[in-house]
Amino acid sequence: MKLLVILLFSGLITGCRGNSSHSLPPKLLLVSFDGFRADYLQNYEFPHLQNFIKEGVLVEHVKNVFITKTFPNHYSIVTGLYEESHGIVANSMYDVITKKHFSDLDDKDPFWWNEAVPIWVTNQLQENRSSAAAMWPGTDVPIHNTTPSYFMNYSSSVSFEERLNNITTWLINSNPPVTFATLYWEEPDASGHKYGPEDKENMYRVLKEIDDLIGELVHKLKVLGLWENLNVIITSDHGMTQCSKDRLINLDRCIDNSSYALIDLTPVAAVLPKINTTEVYNKLKVCSPHMNVYLKEDIPARFHYQHNNRIQPIILVADEGWTIVLNKSLPKLGDHGYDNSLSSMHPFLAAHGPAFHKGYKHNTINSVDIYPMMCHILGLKPHPNNGTFGHTKCLLVDQWCINLPEAVGIVIGALLVLTTLTGLIIIMQNRLSVPRPFSRLQLQEDDDDPLIE
Ligand SMILES: [Zn+2]
Repeated sequence: MKLLVILLFSGLITGCRGNSSHSLPPKLLLVSFDGFRADYLQNYEFPHLQNFIKEGVLVEHVKNVFITKTFPNHYSIVTGLYEESHGIVANSMYDVITKKHFSDLDDKDPFWWNEAVPIWVTNQLQENRSSAAAMWPGTDVPIHNTTPSYFMNYSSSVSFEERLNNITTWLINSNPPVTFATLYWEEPDASGHKYGPEDKENMYRVLKEIDDLIGELVHKLKVLGLWENLNVIITSDHGMTQCSKDRLINLDRCIDNSSYALIDLTPVAAVLPKINTTEVYNKLKVCSPHMNVYLKEDIPARFHYQHNNRIQPIILVADEGWTIVLNKSLPKLGDHGYDNSLSSMHPFLAAHGPAFHKGYKHNTINSVDIYPMMCHILGLKPHPNNGTFGHTKCLLVDQWCINLPEAVGIVIGALLVLTTLTGLIIIMQNRLSVPRPFSRLQLQEDDDDPLIE
């Protein structure tokens, strides 16, 4: 008996050990191609990306956060928070209390980033895990005193190939293993600004290059044996819309520029009045029919863009395709930053890997939903956030989900079956219980004959 107990006990321990050595922690690579407008996917050819989607999932529209700019949206993806909550409220910011400035060229002060905890920090606090970043806004800043274990200082001149080489090397060779990694690329944003999204010829060329980079990424992951076990999300921060020299809003025509400081210009201008706020507001309010002017307290709730000191007392929101300028000509042919309800501002999301279904298409999610989904995949406890995990359940193999058309179909189908069955039962019952028509027993002539004579 003693021997049996010992054998059973040692068997249990071996079983547990066996399990843990085989179940490696899940890994996730998050890729952003800056400014990849959702409908590029419908309007251009992407053979490599379409292959990736065929074996994975596609979310056709990701509703991003207002303002639809690069730094704020990249930080929302990795924190699940609206801009007013994570504190990166624009690419250009000013904090009235500390008098600090932030810009895309001067973004290294942790002060700006510390209002939230990005997923690479949370991932690294888990035992035996590390994070890596081949550039992503904020990854070269010690946020809460933590950078990813492996990261590159931001430089737009570093090639995609070098970034990809670094990230795959870190994914393979690190100890503790890299379980969360980011990869960032500046296109098609840069070309979208330069040519405008309506320049089909140039955008065709640029988007073909992007597709080739995706082909390169998948090929490299396959060669290195990472493809089957690594979860890969390819997404973006925002879309792009066409601007025009005929759609300019010149603030200098409406107000003396010495009466305010301009913290951010277009298409959402952040205005810090130097004189009476109401006076500045009243002048700007009538400046253009193609621009909404809001006092901070009146910013529509749907923008989730109000409760932060870094949001200035007045903001101006240009209509789609309009550019706010100061006595200057059109600075760029394409831009983003506009209202996040515009579909031209939305990016897409595609994902592949053991956590995701194969060949599944989904209409839309919010960009803040990506964070709780990534935490789920990595087995991390998410920080409080504005995302909804339920919105992404249909993408994941380990979740039970049912979408609305399917649910309606199932309910209608079930009702039809029930009705048919009930009908059948009623018919059967009627048949069984119908009394036989009464008929007098026909006596034959010899029936009167006694049976026994
Ligand atoms: Zn961007």
